[in-house]
Amino acid sequence: MATNYSVSCDLFTLPLDDDHQILYAPRLGFVSTVNNDLVNLLAELGSIDAGTLNVEQQATLEFLEQKHVLNGSSEASVVTEFQAQYRPTMVTLFPTNQCNLRCKYCYASAGDSNPMTMDWFVATHAIDEVIRNVKGQGQSMVSLAFHGGGEPLFPWDFVRRAVEYAEEESEKAGLKLTVFSATNGLLSTSQLDWIMKHLASLNISFDGLPHVQDYHRPLPNGKGSFAFVDRTMKYLDAHNFNYGVRSTISSYNVDLMEESLDFIGQNYKTKMVHFEPLFYCGRCKTNNSLSPDMEKFLLNFKKCDLKAKRYGVAFMYSGCRIESLTSTFCGATRDNFSVTPDGFITTCYEVTTRDDPKSEIMFIGKMKDDGSLEIDEGKRKFLHSMSVNNLEYCRDCFAKWHCGGECIAKLGHTDYFGPRGHDRCQLNRKLVLSRLVNLVKGEYYHPMMTSTTQPEKETL
Ligand code: SF4
Ligand code: SF4
Repeated sequence: MATNYSVSCDLFTLPLDDDHQILYAPRLGFVSTVNNDLVNLLAELGSIDAGTLNVEQQATLEFLEQKHVLNGSSEASVVTEFQAQYRPTMVTLFPTNQCNLRCKYCYASAGDSNPMTMDWFVATHAIDEVIRNVKGQGQSMVSLAFHGGGEPLFPWDFVRRAVEYAEEESEKAGLKLTVFSATNGLLSTSQLDWIMKHLASLNISFDGLPHVQDYHRPLPNGKGSFAFVDRTMKYLDAHNFNYGVRSTISSYNVDLMEESLDFIGQNYKTKMVHFEPLFYCGRCKTNNSLSPDMEKFLLNFKKCDLKAKRYGVAFMYSGCRIESLTSTFCGATRDNFSVTPDGFITTCYEVTTRDDPKSEIMFIGKMKDDGSLEIDEGKRKFLHSMSVNNLEYCRDCFAKWHCGGECIAKLGHTDYFGPRGHDRCQLNRKLVLSRLVNLVKGEYYHPMMTSTTQPEKETL
């Protein structure tokens, strides 16, 4: 038995009910229901003489010591090291700014701008770059993804050619290639047949209920797109192809979230459903009535969370990933290598054009004509330094290793190390707490939740 005890990890107490709290050490994967007496004991730990503890208190503190919560720590290191050189092993191409839908909230206002398709040499040089880096680092896996600006699979011949080029070059280099794409799902069966042979998975933007999909995501002629995307997903299901669904939640469907999850769960075989509240940008600037009430999103998300197990899906929102630890919200501050149609290198999937003011920090370089990368190392370093451990605002936040300090493209200001005081930050905290409460009650479901993050069985 130790003679003195001290807390030696990030440790948080969170409200559960009148008599109990949750004791949470995220980087130890430790979570337990505790009574208020233990919380009081921990608060006074520094001034306690171990000789005055009763048997039960001693046993509890010894247990916490064994778990590394007290007196020494084996906390996971979450912070990604800054690499001296930019050597990405995964590339995301944004092949075009064009789209065959006219979504009401499109961040890229795709279809409104001058049509642009990526030059072939930009694609090949970007693919060559990641293959070279994977080989140089002695690794065996290389990844190619398509995202965008516009609908990534719209310039179909370009995408096919790029994938086939990547396949040939990876094979020559003895590497295993994995290809993914985001898509709006407007794809013919022959396209889908090809995709199922060459891609590992798709992430389909689909807003769930037929009338919501038709309203949110119309065709250029104003007609609905549900029938097309429904056909795509059923075709993929018939062939057991892996895809995720990402739904945008606006004021129009915020009260239909549960119904949407039921619809998706009952009609499709997807194992990943991601609901994200609409955030203003692109075309939706002109229509701010689509902004959802975050309290409603919170309430309805919680209801959906309890249904994920019924459908066997990983149910997600980007700010409450309690199944993983991260020091950044996304790869925008971790050397993402995404290439715009005109050859700029951006770390953010939503900052895709030079005329977006956020390109000032997110565009970190350019593909040069000779195939080399011109990288602004100052910008790279600046982005990297924005990990959550460097954010004073997030210092004492219990959710920080799951949130990572929020999406820097949605801060609403340019004080990048400053406050995250907008309603998404509040939402992230409330949803992380809600999931921890579900976890200790045995009601949280995520197919990838590991045993290290299972709650202690006994109340302490
Ligand atoms: S910064 Fe925000 S918008 Fe950009 S890639 Fe990251 S999460 Fe997406
Ligand atoms: S304070 Fe807000 S933005 Fe920062 S880590 Fe916590 S939830 Fe995320």
